[in-house]
Parts: sequence; C-alpha cells; structure tokens
Amino acid sequence: MSSVFHRSAKTYPVAVRGQGVYLWDASGKRYLDGASGALVANIGHGHPGIADALGRQARALPFVHGSQFTSEIYERYAARLAGLLPQDGYRFWAVSGGSEAVESAIKLARQYHTERGESGRYRIVTRKPSYHGASLGALAASGMGARRALYRPLLNEDAFPKIPRPDPRVDGEQDARQLETLLLQLGPESVAAFIAEPVVGASDAALSPAAGYYQEVQRICARHGVLFIADEVMCGLGRAGSMFALSQWHVTPDLLVLGKGLAAGYAPLAGVLAAPHVHAAVMEGSGAFKHGFTYAGHPISLAAGDAVLEVIEQQNLVERSRCAGDALLAGLRDLAQDFSQILEVRGRGLMLGLVLGDPDTREAYDDPGLAERLGRAAFAHGLITYPGSGALDGRRGDHLLLGPPLNATDRELDELLSLLRVA
Ligand code: PMP
Repeated sequence: MSSVFHRSAKTYPVAVRGQGVYLWDASGKRYLDGASGALVANIGHGHPGIADALGRQARALPFVHGSQFTSEIYERYAARLAGLLPQDGYRFWAVSGGSEAVESAIKLARQYHTERGESGRYRIVTRKPSYHGASLGALAASGMGARRALYRPLLNEDAFPKIPRPDPRVDGEQDARQLETLLLQLGPESVAAFIAEPVVGASDAALSPAAGYYQEVQRICARHGVLFIADEVMCGLGRAGSMFALSQWHVTPDLLVLGKGLAAGYAPLAGVLAAPHVHAAVMEGSGAFKHGFTYAGHPISLAAGDAVLEVIEQQNLVERSRCAGDALLAGLRDLAQDFSQILEVRGRGLMLGLVLGDPDTREAYDDPGLAERLGRAAFAHGLITYPGSGALDGRRGDHLLLGPPLNATDRELDELLSLLRVA
C-alpha cells in the first residue's frame, strides 16, 4: 500500500526511468511522453549534461537565502534570460513554481500602483476559462470551475473580474475590446493589471486569439494605466513555436510569467520578468518587494535553467518546435478526417489541442468526457497526453492537449500519431 497522498484514488504506475521522449514504469512498460508531463519536459527526459550541471552547482553552492545573498548563477542566468527579450532592462525574479510566479506578478502589479500613489488599483482582470495556478490567489485569478468548486469561497471574487475567452474567428482588435468595456464598467482606477495566457493551455486546449488581439490589449492597458501580465508558464520558452509566445503578436508585456519549460522538469524553477518601470517603481518607492519564498532563486534550479537554455539554443529547439508543430498539426488534421468526434485541431508550435465532442451537436459528451476516456486509453497503450475535460463550468470544454518534447524526432512524432489513432 502506498503512503503517498496521491491526487486521486486511482492506481498510479511507479515511474523509474526517463530517456528522451520515453518513460518506463516499474513493470518495464514504456510510455511515449506526448505531453512532456504537463508541457514541462521540453528537452525530453534524462538529457545528458543537465545532471552534470546540477551536480557542479550542488557541489559549489547549493543554497543561499535571498535576504542575504544573490549568487553568481542567479546574476548570470537573469541577464541571459532578460537578454532574450527585444527590450532592455527587464529584471528576473526567480521562484519555484508557476503559481508562486503568478502570485509574485500579481503582488508586483499591486505594489507598482501603490508606490505611485494609486493604491485603489487592486483588481486583476482575468479571462474565463483560464488557469493560472493552484494556490489560493492564483486560483482566484483562474476561471476554471472544476478546479475551484471544492475550495469556495476563494479570495475576494470582486478583485478578480473576468472577460470571456478570445474567439479566433473574431477580428483580434474587436475581440480585445471586451477588456476595455469591462475596464470602463469597473472604473479603470480600480484595476491593477490584466492577466492572460497568450496561447491557452490547460483550460482551453491551445486556443489563441486572432492577429491584432494582444496589440490591442497592450494599447487598452496603456490607455488606462493597467499593467499587462502575460502568463507564459506553459506557452513560453519555445513551446508555442517562438521563445516567448507573445512575440507572435509583437508584444512585450509589463510582467512576463515563466515556469514549466524554464528548467524543463530538471528542477523546480519559475519566475517573473519585470519591465524596467515596474522595477523602478518598487526601488524608488518603498525600496523593497516585500515578498519572498525560502527557495526563491535556488542556485540548483537556476543552474538547471541555464543548462536547459543552452540545449534550447544549441539544438535550435525553438525553430524545431515551429516546424515539428506544423507537421504534427497536419497529422492530427488527417486523424480528424477519420474520427468525427475530433471537432477541432489547433495550436502553435508543439503546443497542440484536440477539441472533442459529439459530431452532431458539436457539444462535449457527458461526464466522463471523451477526452478523459481517450487519455486513459492512450495511457494504456503507452502514450501520455494531457486531457482537460471538465475544465469549464457545465459540459463544454472536452479537450486533449499534446505537447511532446521539442526535440522529439519525426519518427517519434509518427509513433505518437499511430498510438493516438489506436487509442
Ligand atoms: N499558469 C499556467 C498557464 C499553467 O499552465 C500553470 C500550470 N499548469 C500554472 C500557471 C501553475 O504552475 P504550477 O503548477 O507550476 O504552480
């Protein structure tokens, strides 16, 4: 009997080894990781060189506390990461996970306004559906009924008003104006920031808005003094076919939240890249971001991040994500020709989604959703996917996310498609 407090009462296979796109369990069964865990293991499992980098850092300096020290690896990595943005002067705040990073961004946004004498700006506008994390603040900012239901009341709902999901069939600029309509209703002087996931992952199967949407979001935010927080925890670091997903809309946000692919599963690493004006407001105001976690800026995590970035750059994995993603998308569209329950195939780079449901009504099937069943069947056949049924309130939103490691070979992607077809 297991002593682990598992996520559910189902029986979990015990994983013992990972290599490239494959994982093996204790019985010797092999799985093709078509979801990189939860779109995390972007350079695959057991990548040679990463363990050495972790070992070197563990021997040299495994830990310092952020109230006492910075570290050579923190300084070097922050400069490297910030250097990937088209604008200079961004500062990196490193934490251990995406939820911590989202909460850090929310608090930074509120502090930014407070330092400037606008403490009435407390609201964080978000979208529905959306997922920004599991901690209470990040969950309050998430429009995802199924994950919220058992934990009500969440934090002050009035502080997290929501606009509807983007609709890629609608003109991007027009679609984005839903934000302005809400800001005007609320009174923009009560709003600190708008948070959105540029290419939506867990809550909406690789959905992204039409051209022009995020440029208009940025203009609206600027017009009303609202900060724009981009949550690229899932879609960043090459996953959606560009180093940062928002660059596909030619936008750099005020706060850019990263996680998952940052250390690609080799260590817990996430963080926020903050624009120079946000950093300046804090430092020239009260002089301190009164926020911190014991493991924030952990040297071993940062060494993992640095080594992972090296692999991404050396192996040209951003470009690979774009090309392999186009090929996989085409393969999934072929599959959709043969299975009418696949209502839609979409995505960017190697962040791809299948929307599933009843071909006659074009609605999701009743619980348990088709995605859940397909995910289970795929798992039984040795293919890992990331099903998202029940993500929304009510019956809509039955979908499956696919996101194999960015360095998966053509042959491995073909194998993914065959396993999915069998499932
Ligand atoms: N934001 C997004 C967009 C995510 O996909 C996730 C995780 N699925 C999070 C935030 C939360 O990250 P974590 O699970 O590392 O706390």
